[in-house]
Amino acid sequence: MATLTQVRETTRFLETGSRSRKLAAEAAQVMPEGITRETIRRQPYAPAMASAHGSVLVDLDGDERTDLLFNHTALIHGHGYSTVVQVVARQSRQLEAAPFPNEHETVLARLLAPRVPVDDPLFRFTSSGSEAVMLALRLATAATGRRKIVVFEHCYHGAFVAASQADAPPPDYLLCPFNAPDLLRHLFHHHGPRIAAVLADLCPVRGALSPATTAFAEQIRDGCARYGALLIADEVVPSRAAPGGMAAAYGLGPDIVCLGKYIGGGLPIGAVAMRRDLGTCFAPGHKPRLGHGGTFNGNPLSMTAGTAALTGFGADRAASLDAATTAVREELNGLFARRDADWSVRRAGSLFHFWPHRNLPASPGQARHHVTSAVLADLSGFLLRHGVVIAPSGFGCLATVTTPADLDYLVAAVDAYLTR
Ligand code: PMP
Repeated sequence: MATLTQVRETTRFLETGSRSRKLAAEAAQVMPEGITRETIRRQPYAPAMASAHGSVLVDLDGDERTDLLFNHTALIHGHGYSTVVQVVARQSRQLEAAPFPNEHETVLARLLAPRVPVDDPLFRFTSSGSEAVMLALRLATAATGRRKIVVFEHCYHGAFVAASQADAPPPDYLLCPFNAPDLLRHLFHHHGPRIAAVLADLCPVRGALSPATTAFAEQIRDGCARYGALLIADEVVPSRAAPGGMAAAYGLGPDIVCLGKYIGGGLPIGAVAMRRDLGTCFAPGHKPRLGHGGTFNGNPLSMTAGTAALTGFGADRAASLDAATTAVREELNGLFARRDADWSVRRAGSLFHFWPHRNLPASPGQARHHVTSAVLADLSGFLLRHGVVIAPSGFGCLATVTTPADLDYLVAAVDAYLTR
């Protein structure tokens, strides 16, 4: 087993004269809190990154860390994946962007079609997962003429601001606890005919990857079917947790699927896959009409990068990544048992989540306790200072470039945390 002595410190960013510290102070002069996305906030400040290769991130002060977050799962092949680098270089010389169709969006849509559990789907591309979710909600309101959207408490769906457009009404949210089928049935009973859609991530990161129970998934399906509401599967993160995504794993037939992250090969992207008949909502004559613009939608760089990444991530590759994630979860849980530590790890596909208790949470609601968040931030902060990057929430993932040595190092660093 790996020992404490093998774990190195990566704390140069915290030194008084460090470049990261200087940059954090300068950034605070031009951006609120010195950051431009909430999800990267770290205490007292984060090391700024200078470069990366494979599974290694190098900060401005020269410290190297093993990346086990990969820009929140977007870099499925790690940093500087040569095929993506080549196609992006070639494409940027040929056509960066133009307000016209390009052949690459059709190629990527065709590649994605068999990866979603919607028959013969149509696609719209966006620049992020957040926009994909917003578009899906507006599509549901436009298609049903209803405004209410069921969302599950504490689930994260990105920036999640209802885009209101004069001719398609903004959604109106109904909150329901996750994994509470009886409450969901009640909600349908009271509001059913006014519900446009249920927006569900069946394995929310905020619940430490808490899987939907079968009863809950069935209630989502049955409620939607009974009251004519659409089912929107948010697969922006969990699509890699099972072939066809989590909705497919539960045997649900979503009407709309939101995708993002790794489908852009590391470049900005989001996508909405929809039942073919829903595509009519975008037609000029449809009432209410669904307008959907976006300067960077379907841009050739993201489309070609996504095509290269997905072509290199077939079922075999996904399966071996899942197997490696299972193995490291077993190793970590074995370590916790040996150290008699109140910790556990859960995994879904190649995603993993630490949890500072033996019993894993059944819902994001259960996972929201501030003491739990503080302990997870403490673990991720320790790992950051000892050469490993995971999210402050305790979430991480593997990429195809992750090596056995990377995972041994993770286990050693966690062991160092437990015995510090
Ligand atoms: N849905 C889920 C489930 C997410 O986790 C996220 C972001 N992590 C989003 C949507 C939004 O994606 P993006 O950050 O690309 O806007």
